[in-house]
Amino acid sequence: MCNSFNKRFLDEASKNYNDQDHRDEAEVVTHLTFMTKAVKQAIEGLSKNEGGPFGCIIVKDNKIVGRGHNKVTSTNDPTAHAEVVAIRDACKNLNTFQLNDCILYTSCEPCPMCLGAIYWARPQKVYYACNQNDAANIGFDDAFIYKEIALPQNDRTIPFEQIYRSLGLEAFKAWTDKEDKTAY
Ligand SMILES: [Zn+2]
Repeated sequence: MCNSFNKRFLDEASKNYNDQDHRDEAEVVTHLTFMTKAVKQAIEGLSKNEGGPFGCIIVKDNKIVGRGHNKVTSTNDPTAHAEVVAIRDACKNLNTFQLNDCILYTSCEPCPMCLGAIYWARPQKVYYACNQNDAANIGFDDAFIYKEIALPQNDRTIPFEQIYRSLGLEAFKAWTDKEDKTAY
């Protein structure tokens, strides 16, 4: 990163951070490297017609341990968002169901589903490039899901109704009583 092109690139990258004062050049290089790879994942996915323009990289100890891009349309899987694909990849590679000490770089701010998946996976931190407004501008509007979450169940577009709670509780009782369970 000694040549002037890279210096300019880094200067430009630094400006994009909201709190750039707290970041040194090494940190900028690290973030830029991994976010570039996340965006490359996104471009690779759309080039291969595998899904929408979203990519994600998961990093542990400065090494990539998981990667993914959106595969919704190519796998007929509405949950195959980049973050979910990358979380599955990282968990498989690390042979774990928790991504403690991992950092997630995603090309776009996670949707509510991925936000939930990220919370379940429990990585240390998330960095995202585009925000949800940028996504809405190209036709990927998840704002309505955020609005739905805040609504009472009866007012939601997809109705939810509770039935047979006592039946469901049987599984919970079996879990509570189970002595050899793997807690998480
Ligand atoms: Zn998502």
